[in-house]
Order: sequence, then C-alpha cells, then structure tokens
Amino acid sequence: MANIQKPKGTLDVLPNKSFIWQYIESAVRKAAAKCGYGEIRFPTFEATELFNRGVGGTTDIVQKEMYTFEDKDGRSMTLRPEGTACVVRSIIENGLCMQAMPLKLYYIGSFFRYEKPQAGRSREFTQFGAELFGADSALADAELILLANDVFKSLGVKSVELKINSIGCADCRAEFRKALKDYFKSKESRLCDTCRGRLETNPLRILDCKCPDCIEVAKDAPKTVDYLCDRCKSHFEELKGVLTSAGVGYEVDPFIVRGLDYYTGTVFEFVGGTGAAQSTVCGGGRYDTLVSQLGGPALSGVGFGMGITRLMAVMELDGVLPKADTAPDIYIAPACAAARDRAYLLAKELRDMGLKAESDLCGRSLKAQMKWADKAGAAYTLVLGDSEIEAGRAVLKPMRGGEAAEVAVNAAEIKNAILKGNGER
Ligand code: ATP
Ligand code: MG
Repeated sequence: MANIQKPKGTLDVLPNKSFIWQYIESAVRKAAAKCGYGEIRFPTFEATELFNRGVGGTTDIVQKEMYTFEDKDGRSMTLRPEGTACVVRSIIENGLCMQAMPLKLYYIGSFFRYEKPQAGRSREFTQFGAELFGADSALADAELILLANDVFKSLGVKSVELKINSIGCADCRAEFRKALKDYFKSKESRLCDTCRGRLETNPLRILDCKCPDCIEVAKDAPKTVDYLCDRCKSHFEELKGVLTSAGVGYEVDPFIVRGLDYYTGTVFEFVGGTGAAQSTVCGGGRYDTLVSQLGGPALSGVGFGMGITRLMAVMELDGVLPKADTAPDIYIAPACAAARDRAYLLAKELRDMGLKAESDLCGRSLKAQMKWADKAGAAYTLVLGDSEIEAGRAVLKPMRGGEAAEVAVNAAEIKNAILKGNGER
C-alpha cells in the first residue's frame, strides 16, 4: 500500500526550517507589542455564515476557495479563509467593542483556501494579521502601515514597495460603481466568464481579476480616486501626508481594490521585488461597516494580513534569512561505558547553566559520536574516558578553529572556558 502523503497545498515545516518561522514570529510579536497590539486567538473553523456575510458572497474566497463541511449535527462550518471576519465576530461576542477605544489586536495562525497550489499560494498558509478598531483618522491607517513596515525593517527586508489607494465609502462608491459598470459593459465581450457575471453583482471585483484579458481591459477603467467624496479625499490626502512625514515611501496605485468586499476607503499592499503574481506580501485596508454588518455597533476598523511564506520568499531574495542556531554549544562524548553517566550528567548541568549541551544517547563508538557532533555543528566537544574521569581533567576541543584547552571536568569551569573561547574567536 502506498504511504499516506500530506494533502496537496499543505506544508511540513521541519527543524531545518522551523527556526526561520520562529524567528519571523518573534519579530512580528515584538513589532506588534511595541505599538500596543495584544494577541487574539480564535477558532480555526467558524459558522459558514460568518464568511458569507463578512467576506462577501461575490468574492473569490466565498465563491471558490472555502473549505466548507457539514458537522455531525448538520451545521455548515468553514475552515477560516481569513482573519478579519473572525476577529470581528469575536470582539462582538466578547464585548470588546464596548471597551475603551482604540482596540488593537494581532494574530498569527493558519488559514485555509481551496486554491491551485503554486509558489506563494497554498491551501493552508500562515498569516500575521493586525486589526485596529475605533479610530477613524488617517493616523490609524498609517499606524497599521507603519507596523507592517516595521516588521519588514526589523527583518532586514528591503525589496518591498508600498502601494496605496482609496476605494471610497458607500457614498462615493455608488457613483464609481456605475461608471465602472458602464465602462466594462462596453467591453463585455473581452471579459472572462466570471467577470461577465460580476458586471451585475460586483463590478469592482473585475479590477481584481487575474485573467490577462481582464487586466488589459481594466487598464483604462475609471479610477476610484477620481470619484472620492470630500471626506474620503481629505482622509486619503491626510494618509499620504502622514506617510511622507514618517519617511515611508509609497506609490498611489489605482488598480488596488483588494479581494474582499468589506473594504471602505484606504486599501494598501506591500508588493515584493519580483513583481510576479504571488508577490503581494501584505494586504489590508479600512473596513468601517463590517462590525455593524456582523451585528455589532457602528465601529470603524482597519487592518492587514501578511502571508508568512511570501514574506520568507522576499527575505530569501534579499539574503536576510537567519542562520540556524540549533547547533549544540558542546557535545560531551563518553569514550567508554563507565564514562556514560558522567557525560550525561555533565551535559545536564551545562544545560542548567543555559548552554546547549548534548551527550550520547545511542551507545555509539567514540568515532561515530564525533561524526555526529560534527554534523550537528557542535561548537566544542569534550571526550570523557577512564583517564579523564580519574584525573578530573579533560580536553575542550573547538570544532571550528581555535586552540584546544585542558579544563577541569566541572560544569562551571567548562562553561567559562566556552564563553572565553567564544569571546576570543
Ligand atoms: P492574492 O491576490 O495573492 O490571492 P489575496 O488578496 O487573496 O491575495 P488576502 O486575502 O488579502 O490576499 O491575504 C493577505 C495576504 O495573505 C496575502 O497578501 C498573501 O501574502 C497571503 N495569502 C493569501 N492567500 C494565500 C495563499 N493561498 N497562500 C499563501 N499566502 C496567501
Ligand atoms: Mg486570493
């Protein structure tokens, strides 16, 4: 029988890569904490209705990408395809909407979309997301952008570009929608089947289509920024001003509309250097009607989602992926059966002192142990045989250059010698 394999579009993260995930997660948590965002954790599946109502029935996510199933009681459940609707559900349910504003939350977790797996696009993917509620000003939009920017900066990422746009509020959207519909109606024969359907249901979505023909047609379509009401216009101008004074470069891109129905006003993306289809590392925007749409009070919101594998791809491009630091500081090798316990306990004492120390667990020959220590990248080895135990002294050998030194078989002395050696190298 064939061995079972992981589902298409999912990922096993093994120890040779998981340290990169941990490194990124810790940078993200640090950046979020610096501007007062607290972590929220919410279920991996929710009632399907949440996404139908929250994300929008005419979006790709709801139309094509959801993992929906019936549970044993016949309720329709969906693996969360995105985080914002879940966060909004949770703050309404837990009464956080009633607390002092602004409310700042972040999350890191798995999301699920039934998509064609390819580079930068998988069926289970990890997103870092941040959401800010109860602040209407452009300063709030800017804070989210600055947070995403801080994550990139703290990881050393240089090759991402910020693109911003405003898609207007419900007031200005109506006129824009009409202009857009008229325009696309006149080019209907060149649109894909899906977009022809969108003409009636949601013409804005056509701007987001990835078919080459639709992209071509959309190039001359009316631009949202030309239809903004005075309030949306001044909000957008203020955002640009804040970004400029904070030293964050941006480009206004009228083609950014984002693939979710809940956005109002500001939308933005950070796009990676390759310019390829899966190069949007981070996407977000303002959603001032979502909370009330899901049954909560009138509460504004702004947020973003950042895909961790796409972030990793730009980090690789920029040469800023971290090196593994899982290698032991020291490997203690027993050279005979009598030394095994001593070596094992010495490694334990060194770990108690904060070092990464290992010893033999497999009863291997000295030669095999040294080969293992070398492969594991141990910085030092220390061989313990009968004579070393009897003399109470052993040789601390640096594995990557430097002088070997005799030390007492004593955890404190070994630790000092390692620290001293590391300082000198
Ligand atoms: P795309 O246009 O690439 O499909 P999207 O508009 O669907 O992206 P959002 O829903 O805004 O993306 O999600 C925010 C971020 O999450 C994306 O910019 C991306 O980094 C990441 N992301 C979205 N879908 C996937 C996926 N299937 N696999 C990996 N990362 C993803
Ligand atoms: Mg998508």
